Amino acid sequence: MIEFKNVEKYYGDFHALKNINLEIEEGKTVVLIGPSGSGKSTLIRTINGLEQIQAGDLTVYGENIAKKKSDMNILRKNVGMVFQHFNLYANKTVLENIMLAPRIVLKRDEKENREIAEKLLEMVGLSDKGNSYPDMLSGGQEQRVAIARSLAMKPKVLLFDEPTSALDPEMIGDVLEVMKKIARDSDMTMVVVTHEMGFAKQVADQVIFMAEGAIIEKSPAKEFFENPKEERAKQFLSQVL
Ligand code: ATP
Ligand code: MG
Repeated sequence: MIEFKNVEKYYGDFHALKNINLEIEEGKTVVLIGPSGSGKSTLIRTINGLEQIQAGDLTVYGENIAKKKSDMNILRKNVGMVFQHFNLYANKTVLENIMLAPRIVLKRDEKENREIAEKLLEMVGLSDKGNSYPDMLSGGQEQRVAIARSLAMKPKVLLFDEPTSALDPEMIGDVLEVMKKIARDSDMTMVVVTHEMGFAKQVADQVIFMAEGAIIEKSPAKEFFENPKEERAKQFLSQVL
């Protein structure tokens, strides 16, 4: 479980996260939405330690990472992240991209490593691309490899920060399908920042709406879309739907 308690984040004088209280339960899919600059990326990046917090408690799988001496290895082991830009290793094949971290970090047996990687490639619909290099793939294919690469580490939670917003429109659907599959068929916990409201409606267990660094509303997805409570959430929805 991931738990934010009265979390505050500053960039210098700028108050980027304001009194964040949030529990993300095991196996759930949580979608973070809100206007540009509202703190969505900042919030998601605190979960894997990419951003430090200045006050409050943030507990990720039993480790309070707000403490100075917290064990960051717990984060590395449990938290995977998929970014807007996929950052695959250009000089390595697709399979090698997926197998690299498990080999080095987890010392996974080579045969098992390959089997897992091949299974993941199949899951993301790219069985025939194992020996290709990233520059031979489309953006959507690269993003699916990046998802497979994160999954190969068997994290407990997968964070996505606008995974489809750098893609051409015709590629977006394939990536969202893979994310839906993970949400439905696995017990993975997922935290997703996205502007894809259709995805949020269909897949999210919970929707978190942020504005100006604060959580304004958090509701089950159906409730949020059918009956948003807060004025700012209503306004936002009227602009994006
Ligand atoms: P977007 O939808 O545009 O991605 P966001 O909701 O992800 O926006 P953040 O990137 O979390 O927003 O930024 C929240 C606020 O913090 C913004 O005002 C931004 O300018 C500021 N900010 C983000 N990163 C830094 C940084 N490294 N230094 C200073 N300010 C920052
Ligand atoms: Mg962002």
